Amino acid sequence: MNKESIQEALKAVKYPGFSRDIVSFGLIRSIEVVDGKAAINVAVATSDHSIPAKIRDDIENTVSTLEGIKEVAVNISVTASKQPAAASTEPKAARIDGVKHVIAVASGKGGVGKSTFAVNLAGALSKILEKDGKKVGLMDCDIYGPSIPLMFGVKGRPFVEGDSLIPLENHGVKVMSMGFLIDDNAPVVWRGPMIMKTIQQFIQNVKWGELEIIVIDLPPGTGDAQLSLVQNVELSGALLVTTPQPAATQVAIRGAKMLEKTNVPILGVAENMSYFVDPQGNRTHIFGEGGGQQTALELSTQLLGQIPLDQEIRHGGDLGTPISIGQPDSIAGKEFHKMANAVLEQLQ
Ligand code: ADP
Repeated sequence: MNKESIQEALKAVKYPGFSRDIVSFGLIRSIEVVDGKAAINVAVATSDHSIPAKIRDDIENTVSTLEGIKEVAVNISVTASKQPAAASTEPKAARIDGVKHVIAVASGKGGVGKSTFAVNLAGALSKILEKDGKKVGLMDCDIYGPSIPLMFGVKGRPFVEGDSLIPLENHGVKVMSMGFLIDDNAPVVWRGPMIMKTIQQFIQNVKWGELEIIVIDLPPGTGDAQLSLVQNVELSGALLVTTPQPAATQVAIRGAKMLEKTNVPILGVAENMSYFVDPQGNRTHIFGEGGGQQTALELSTQLLGQIPLDQEIRHGGDLGTPISIGQPDSIAGKEFHKMANAVLEQLQ
């Protein structure tokens, strides 16, 4: 029994009155195990005495049942607060009304093709699901550089109905983007609290209607905006986009760690710009090989697919018709459809 397994087990302990666990709330300060004796340090900000007592009981009950543990010592440091600190800053993830699944496309950094994956995945999912009369949504939360309106060919301002925004639609997919709300040429300078507030409102005030699935294009990286998003919406899972060079693995894993911290399941890793097919039909691995597989292995998840470097993909993005819709039978089109099917299978 080691610290990691104890930490894993503690994810089953909920903060009293919340559906969220004490690990994702960041309450665990340290865990030590020596000769079957576990010492767990916890920090709680609350004025309600029953909360530390309940957390202590729950930790003791959970950890004492683990194999190899003979003794459990829980040390809780309590600071006074009107509200549980973590709970007040980390809102409960909300479901989006009428929407069955929400998945996020994430990356550890910008420029790896995250938005390209989001639009192509949404396009492929829509093509697959329209046969059953089901609809897909695409939500662009890349507040630093919203590129979905261009890549999905949607322009204009969303309608306002009461307090709600009505998404625009193209290729049969409902689309909402920060890009519809901010001026094309205005620099986007966001600070932490502003980001959280804007994202919260953006999520709560869009009237999506009945949808099978929404694909969210997350902002790149692992900062405030990403965290506040994954904390605000109940996500069924996330897909991590990376590039083939082994050096990209660590960056992708940083992105994955943020998702794991908030208990968002990783549906798989997708590799972009995996190879280039020259006019003679030869494959060249311009950016190296193995990054996607390595990332998937380190995260104990699957490599969902590999998309080549192909100017038709960029062209599709510039034209507003993703290759998964415009050329579904191309190599990349087929691979995006394969990935969409794999995602749907996992969500079942
Ligand atoms: P990110 O969202 O990670 O910043 P984008 O999806 O915006 O990255 O991609 C950056 C640029 O690279 C876009 O112009 C896009 O069309 C292009 N691009 C992405 N993936 C590919 C690919 N596999 N082949 C060709 N161009 C690509």
